[in-house]
Amino acid sequence: MLRRRRAGLLRVVGARMHNLRGLSVDIPHGALTVVTGVSGSGKSSLAFDTLYAEGQRRYVESMSTYARQFLERMQRPDVDAVEGILPAIAIEQHNSTKNARSTVGTATEISDYLRLLYAKLGEPRCLECGTPVRRTTAQTATDALLAAHPDTRAHVVARVPAAERELLRRDGWTRLYGDADAGLVDLDAWTRAGPLPVVTDRLTLHGGERARLAEAITAAWRLGGGMAEVWVEGAQGPLRLGEGLRCAQCGRTLRPPQPRLFSYNSPLGACETCQGFGRTTGLDLEKVIPNESLSLAQGAIVPWRTEKFSEWQDWLETWARKRAYRIPLDLPWAQLEKQHRRMVLRGFGDYTGVYGWFAYLERKRYKMHYRILLARYRGYTPCADCGGTRLRAEARSYRIGERTISDLEALPVGELKRWLHGLPAALSPQARATAQPLLRELAARLGYLEAVGLGYLTLLRQTRTLSGGEAQRIRLAEALGAQLTDTLYVLDEPSVGLHPRDTQRLLEVLRTLTDRGNTVVVVEHDADLIGAADHVIDLGPGAGAHGGDLVFAGTPAALEADRDSKTGAALRQRRLPVPARFARPTGTLTIRGARAHNLKDLTVEIPLGVFTCLSGVSGSGKSTLMIDVLYANWLRSQRGVAIAANAPFERGPCDRLEGADQIDEMVLVDQSPLARSSRSNPATYLGAWSEIRKLLARTAAARQLGLGAGAFSFNTSGGRCEACQGQGAITMEMHFLADVVIPCEACGGKRFSEKALGARYGGKNVAEILDLTVEQALALSADQARVVRSLRPFAEVGLSYLRLGQPTSTLSGGEAQRLKLAAYLAEGEQRSRRLFLFDEPTTGLHAADVAVLLSVLERLVRAGNTVLAIEHNLDFLCHADHLIDLGPEGGEAGGRLIACGTPEQVAHSRGHTGRHLARLLGGKRRKVRHA
Ligand code: ADP
Ligand code: ADP
Ligand code: ZN
Ligand code: ZN
Repeated sequence: MLRRRRAGLLRVVGARMHNLRGLSVDIPHGALTVVTGVSGSGKSSLAFDTLYAEGQRRYVESMSTYARQFLERMQRPDVDAVEGILPAIAIEQHNSTKNARSTVGTATEISDYLRLLYAKLGEPRCLECGTPVRRTTAQTATDALLAAHPDTRAHVVARVPAAERELLRRDGWTRLYGDADAGLVDLDAWTRAGPLPVVTDRLTLHGGERARLAEAITAAWRLGGGMAEVWVEGAQGPLRLGEGLRCAQCGRTLRPPQPRLFSYNSPLGACETCQGFGRTTGLDLEKVIPNESLSLAQGAIVPWRTEKFSEWQDWLETWARKRAYRIPLDLPWAQLEKQHRRMVLRGFGDYTGVYGWFAYLERKRYKMHYRILLARYRGYTPCADCGGTRLRAEARSYRIGERTISDLEALPVGELKRWLHGLPAALSPQARATAQPLLRELAARLGYLEAVGLGYLTLLRQTRTLSGGEAQRIRLAEALGAQLTDTLYVLDEPSVGLHPRDTQRLLEVLRTLTDRGNTVVVVEHDADLIGAADHVIDLGPGAGAHGGDLVFAGTPAALEADRDSKTGAALRQRRLPVPARFARPTGTLTIRGARAHNLKDLTVEIPLGVFTCLSGVSGSGKSTLMIDVLYANWLRSQRGVAIAANAPFERGPCDRLEGADQIDEMVLVDQSPLARSSRSNPATYLGAWSEIRKLLARTAAARQLGLGAGAFSFNTSGGRCEACQGQGAITMEMHFLADVVIPCEACGGKRFSEKALGARYGGKNVAEILDLTVEQALALSADQARVVRSLRPFAEVGLSYLRLGQPTSTLSGGEAQRLKLAAYLAEGEQRSRRLFLFDEPTTGLHAADVAVLLSVLERLVRAGNTVLAIEHNLDFLCHADHLIDLGPEGGEAGGRLIACGTPEQVAHSRGHTGRHLARLLGGKRRKVRHA
């Protein structure tokens, strides 16, 4: 393949960020380079903290002097030289959007283009009378008249207020139209009351008169305030023509719409009722009636069980017993007839209902305790006025080809693209010309979203509900849309969230970037991606202090042949050895009738006491099933409360969970970052720090200096550096750039005062101890049982290379996940019968790390717990005791159970996962036979 390559190399000389040991590497320009190595080996330190950071500095350097004044204070990456650097863009994994107003459409600017399209071409329904309002120009009116009434005589007429009679005479408009019989009447002879029907022209409708007709209509609009009548010979009455957007029926004019009318983020377009949020706060029935298996008599309506509101309960029961109504009081709420339930809620007879009770609280909200009650039972409900579309009625009255902009925003991206593709055929030549440039932009952007495997998303989807992988791929689609060249793109594991089926497409996208002359550096573990790279940089050999060196650099083929590299070994094998035996389930948890998002009334059995994986292509419904249905319904059954309003998931409907009584707790172990506070670190996380502080305080020097254990705390004054309050660094807020962190000048980053640094344990002062790795700290305090107990879990999850004082906020997602696991292991086996839920636990993990993770999961299962993990990594799937495969495709075309059983069984099924598993397991069987 012929590729446009930027000549030369990007050259890093002597990089020392974090654990890098004077690393020097070359990266070819205009090519795809993968940086790989075990977790913690220094990949991000090279790719993000050195390459990207330097690229960003160069970019800032080219900006205003105002920005430049901070440059000297921005920490330079610790590196001798970076040659051939380019302006850099980082595309990281996490989804940092919190804003409820940001959607896929607004984030990709696709909604902006749709708004322009609707402002230019949209045709509304009249809000007064519902008539479709055509967008009329003299041109379109002329065309329509000539086509409908060829070779017919016609009068073009404007109705002018009688008060303007003199003006008309002055300007020479002296012919009026009486009616079909009377014909033309002179202005002076006109005696009827009311507006004056001024004739602007009288002509025969045929092609030769096109220009004259258009002129007559324009004149009539000018005289008649935008309305014209055409009296065609032989017709019953006049044809009414409104100029622009004007209802031909009732004459109501519409302002020419601005693009902002179609934006729910603009006061012009936002629904007045919900202010563009699409939902309003109101009574949340789930909170009022949390347990539907209770009858009314048993107190299904929770707030009325209280003394204070018991009279409402009495009131309901009295009326329910009346012969005219007869609402069963001892039937579970779930089994009451719909009509009866509605009566209980809305009221009947004299009883005002649950809603009436809520309205009563609203009226009393000036009292504090009523406000508290309201808050307890309040929830979000779709806005009744806009139906959740967020737009006001005026905006939704506009249509293109029968669809409103809200209709389009609710379509999956792939379908929207196809619909827009067919649109020009349905437009007039004039409209088509207007639309073409917009449609081109839309097609390109929607195409990029499809190319990164997100064709199943809708524009309406809130960005904050996207997974990290989806958010990253949206940014990748934007990068494609930006058409940049000579840019350095640094990506963090773009394969996350992608089924092996879609890896090829992702590669094509990365190739598009390099073909345009960009340099792409990807931190990756996926064997297929590594195999397809132009250049591979393998760091290691181990993690943290054991890593930071270059193990290999060269082509993937050469890496596969390299005997020293763990990555090379993984590429050669391509897979981990599969365990011979699978664990036996101790019970079953059944999800019955799940219908959230795209799930098709799904019933799924999860075996307990074993390790199960949930597989399927991106968008097939895995997270919906595990988080929105399983986790959220379990949460609700536990606490009888709905999910927090700001949670990134909502409870999804399902008929019921069966067998949940066999587990004590459900634990969601995600990759979200740990504490934001820079005072939280591995030493504090499991409590080792309070023990180490005691050791320091017990030393002779500490006693002499009068230092207690509190002197070695970052959280309280006494020994910490007060300039930085024990953080070792000071964060500067920048107006327009990301915050800048500057090392504390007072303590030089040591975090403690000179006095506190005077105490030493095992020859190390507090700053030096914080700089130890977990491994070194274990060696230093081997005789201190408590310290050992709180540090050992780190070693068990493969994190002994972390330094005690490294802020947990700087840990990668994979490290954070393993740290959380360490905490569960530390609790020991006294707490089993738990169901652990994981979302792609192999993210950020090298094949060698995956083996460590699998052994940790195995320990959890052996202790009597259950593990359920969403995963795409085929090696990992092969190790599961049980697989549940969803599909067949993403979005609406997904949400079904394709196969379940052991990996072997699923390999024989038809879906995408089965096909890829068969490839892997097929090869494995052969291997076993050879051995
Ligand atoms: P990888 O990307 O290969 O997983 P990293 O480059 O993130 O590895 O980390 C390399 C080592 O540097 C690890 O031991 C990690 O914990 C450490 N590290 C990363 N970021 C920081 C930081 N901001 N401060 C101190 N140490 C860090
Ligand atoms: P997977 O985890 O298999 O990638 P998801 O469960 O995330 O799939 O998505 C399944 C379907 O539900 C997709 O069509 C997705 O766009 C849709 N979906 C997921 N979350 C939401 C949400 N919060 N709001 C609306 N639709 C959603
Ligand atoms: Zn609304
Ligand atoms: Zn300081």
